[in-house]
Amino acid sequence: MYQSKAYSAASATSPLASTVIPRRDPTDRDVQIDILFCGICHSDLHTVRNEWSSVMQTAYPCVPGHEIVGRVTRVGAAVTKHKTGDLVGVGCLVDSDRTCPCCRVNLEQLCPNGTFTYNSPDKHGAAPVTYGGYSDSIVVDEHFVLRIPPNLDLAGTAPLLCAGITTYSPLKRAGVGPGKKVGIVGLGGLGHMGVKLADAFGAHVVAITTSTSKRADALRLGADEVVISRNADELRQHAGTFDFILDCVAAEHDINAYLNLLKHDGNLTLVGAPDKPLSLSAFSLIFGRRSLSGSLIGGIAETQEMLDFCGAHQITSDVEIIPIQQVNEAYARLVKSDVKYRFCIDMASLKPA
Ligand code: NAP
Ligand code: ZN
Repeated sequence: MYQSKAYSAASATSPLASTVIPRRDPTDRDVQIDILFCGICHSDLHTVRNEWSSVMQTAYPCVPGHEIVGRVTRVGAAVTKHKTGDLVGVGCLVDSDRTCPCCRVNLEQLCPNGTFTYNSPDKHGAAPVTYGGYSDSIVVDEHFVLRIPPNLDLAGTAPLLCAGITTYSPLKRAGVGPGKKVGIVGLGGLGHMGVKLADAFGAHVVAITTSTSKRADALRLGADEVVISRNADELRQHAGTFDFILDCVAAEHDINAYLNLLKHDGNLTLVGAPDKPLSLSAFSLIFGRRSLSGSLIGGIAETQEMLDFCGAHQITSDVEIIPIQQVNEAYARLVKSDVKYRFCIDMASLKPA
C-alpha cells in the first residue's frame, strides 16, 4: 500500500478538500499510473452530492474522477499491454467479472459485478470503496487501461474517456452517418462531444440547446443547424424530421418535446441521467412508433476504438483547464451550464510548488 494525494468530499454538502488516500501496490496484472489530467464529468457532481441516492448511495469520503490520462510508472509482472513510460487512459470502469454474458461480448459496462472507478466496493480492500482520478496516482488492472493516440492534446483527451465513449457508442449503434438527421440535446461535456462525433460520422447534425450563447460555438463544433429549445417555434419547425436524437441533459426536462421531433420509427437515446424521474406521454411514442432507449458509457474494446477514431480524426474535447484548488468553483459553474465545454484538472496542481 502507498499514499496518494487527492481531493475528496466528506459528505453530500461538503466542498471537496485536499486529503491523502491509500492505493494498493500493483499486483501482477496491475498498472500504476501518475495522473496528469482528469476531466470533471457531471456524474462526479451527481455522485459527490448524493443526487442519485434512489439508485446508488454515495459512500464518503468520495474521491470522484473517471476521465483520467496519465503516464505508467510501474507494471506488474504479468502485464503485457502497457509498459513504464506509456501514456494511458482510464475511464469509468476498473474491473468486471470477465465471465458473464455481457463481459463475454465486450460489454463490461453492463456486467452485474462491475467495478466503477469510484464509489464501487473495492475488491482489493485498499479502501472500502474505489477512489477516482482527482488524485495524483491510481492503480488499475491492465485490461481497463487504454492506449492514448500519440498525436492528441492530453488535456483534451481526458474527457474522451467518459464523455467521448458515452456519445460515440450510441451514435455508432444507431448507424448515424451520411443521410441521417441527428439531434444532440444539451451542449455540455457530453453534448459537445456528441456534436463533434456525429459530424465526423458524416450526419446532418442539429445542436439543440437552451443557451443562446452557445449558438456560434455549436456551428464551430460541427453542427449544421442550431435550435434554441426554449423557443417553441424553432422546435416546431423540426417536428417529425429527426432519425435519431441523443439526449445529454443533466437536469429535469420535458423529453416529450424532443420525442416529437423524431420521424416515424425514430429513436431517442438518453445518456443524461437527471436525478428525478422524467415524465413520458405515451402519445410521444405511439404516434410515429418511436422508441426511447438508454445507453451507458461503452465497453473497453469500443473505448479503444473511439480513442483510435479520435486520433485518426484529430478529435479532442474543448477544455477549460483548472488547478484542483478551483474544483468547487468549477462545480458551481457546472450546475449553471457555464462551461465551454469540459473542465479538466491539471494534476500538476496537486504537487508541491
Ligand atoms: P454538463 O456538462 O453539465 O452538460 C449538461 C447540459 O445539459 C448543459 O450544458 C445544458 O446544455 C443542458 N441542460 C442543463 N440543464 C438543462 C435543463 N434544465 N433543460 C434542458 N437542458 C439543460 O453535463 P455532462 O457531464 O455532459 O453530463 C450530462 C449528463 O449525462 C449528466 O446527467 C451525467 O451524469 C450523465 N452521464 C451519463 C453517462 C452514461 O453513461 N449514460 C456518462 C456520463 C455522464 P445547454 O446549455 O446546451 O442547454
Ligand atoms: Zn462521466
